[in-house]
Amino acid sequence: MRDHDVIIIGSGMGGLVCGNLLSLEGLKVCVLEKNRQIGGCLQTYVRDRVIFDSGVHYLGGLNKGQNLYQIFKYLDIIDKLKLQKMDEDVFDKILIENDDKEYVFAQGYENFINKLLVDFPEEEQGLRAYCDKIKEVCSKFPIYNLRSGGENHEKASVLEIDTKGFIESITTNVRLREVLAGNNPLYAGMPDKTPFYVHALILNSYIESSWKCIDGGSQIAKYLSRNILNRGGTIIRNREVKKIIAEGGKATSVELEDGSRMFANYIISNIPPVKTLEMTDTELIKRVYRNRLKSLENSISCFTLNIVFKKDSYKYFKYNYYVFNEGCVWTTGNYTQDNWPLGYAVFVAASSKSPDYADGMTVLAYMTYEEVKQWDHTRNTVSHMGERGESYDSFKKRKAEVLLDNMERKFPGLRDHIKSYYTATPLSYRDYIGTDDGSLYGITKDYKDTLKTFISPRTKLPNLFFTGQNLNLHGVLGAAMSAIVTTNALMGNDDIINKIRNA
Ligand SMILES: Cc1cc2nc3c(=O)[nH]c(=O)nc-3n(C[C@H](O)[C@H](O)[C@H](O)COP(=O)(O)OP(=O)(O)OC[C@H]3O[C@@H](n4cnc5c(N)ncnc54)[C@H](O)[C@@H]3O)c2cc1C
Repeated sequence: MRDHDVIIIGSGMGGLVCGNLLSLEGLKVCVLEKNRQIGGCLQTYVRDRVIFDSGVHYLGGLNKGQNLYQIFKYLDIIDKLKLQKMDEDVFDKILIENDDKEYVFAQGYENFINKLLVDFPEEEQGLRAYCDKIKEVCSKFPIYNLRSGGENHEKASVLEIDTKGFIESITTNVRLREVLAGNNPLYAGMPDKTPFYVHALILNSYIESSWKCIDGGSQIAKYLSRNILNRGGTIIRNREVKKIIAEGGKATSVELEDGSRMFANYIISNIPPVKTLEMTDTELIKRVYRNRLKSLENSISCFTLNIVFKKDSYKYFKYNYYVFNEGCVWTTGNYTQDNWPLGYAVFVAASSKSPDYADGMTVLAYMTYEEVKQWDHTRNTVSHMGERGESYDSFKKRKAEVLLDNMERKFPGLRDHIKSYYTATPLSYRDYIGTDDGSLYGITKDYKDTLKTFISPRTKLPNLFFTGQNLNLHGVLGAAMSAIVTTNALMGNDDIINKIRNA
């Protein structure tokens, strides 16, 4: 009866990497994707002939031998990707209202410390302690270091460190504390919540090396999907899974929108665990577990402004900006209608069309789902264009103009370079990626209760597995690591990690 060895629900980074790893082990996989375009957050879209990314503005760990490099090498895509190394001396700039300085994060630990010492000459001891702690914490995560074995007990000792608290412990300099937390929109950082390991694993990968995808991140999905097809697998787009069916005490098949069923030995879900469990009514998954997952808080969503520049008008730069109102580095999400936005992030797109001028810029500012809830009943995707109406359009226009007014303070004259702009809201993320509330990075981790936010790839329903950003860590690297964890669980060993390390 079975059609495939493995059915993967969703073609995000986690699903595609699982598909690749399992194909390399000789299994026949079938990826079912509800959207027309594969990739989930790896999707790109074109506006006014400019390519914009949904969720890959920069990548870390891609120097030869580093973790993401090795994963991409094992998957045979590293030489195919069009990548651009960001500025060695600055990959992120942190800007704070009423402070003319531009604080920089540089690549390489010594460079990182030395560049910050220019603005904080008294702080060498604190900066070294900070970097040492990042490295120490990262060393406790075997898969991150492409080591097999020992996963849980090794990292237990560092899971409960608080990011904000730790940063405050290494320096009394308030500005340096803010700067070190300055790219926390990368992980939707929250005071008294975000575990330091999340901060460390992400920061370390960018300090090690920072990269942009030229012409967008969808190329990652393109090459990963080709690998699956080349190894005899199948990828079916526009195919939404509605149910996961359990028979004889194990997961056997999925039911699609049209009521048809597809069978496999294993089913891997790349969609949020809560949504996965809603698809199966098996009693093997207890209510207490379902409720535990339901009670987990999702990270905040955002408003996105995609700017198309006039031709050869706005100089390209190889770094990102994180901009905050004074005192708001940790509280950007606590805005009101009157003071929004309290901060925003700026990413210029690397384009093959021109190395000197930017053709597009993406600006992200936190936005809660509540703000767009009145249009909750509408749905917009490429294959299903619903009308949200004029009120929604004027809401988006109003927000874009407020954001641009704010940006003029740090980027004077920006408006003169704009040819056109396009916007997205939490509803766009909901519809294109598949979370209920457009959450940026899935489940919020909490250092006070790390076990609660730890989700195993195994479920109580035999043959059903989870993968993707909700497991270990979000981000392209995080989702790839989750895929390794899921593949290990399915194969019953961690041989793959050695193969990746030795690739
Ligand atoms: C705005 C934004 C900016 C980001 N910036 C960066 C960055 O610069 N660098 C970085 O490393 N990471 C970044 N990230 C995070 C990163 O992109 C994600 O963590 C990662 O790509 C998520 O991968 P995933 O495997 O969890 O799958 P997802 O991307 O969540 O994909 C899930 C897939 O499942 C599909 N699906 C859902 N329901 C069904 C169903 N019922 N049937 C079939 N298919 C279904 C969806 O359509 C989707 O394709 C960003 C994310 C966002 C939102």
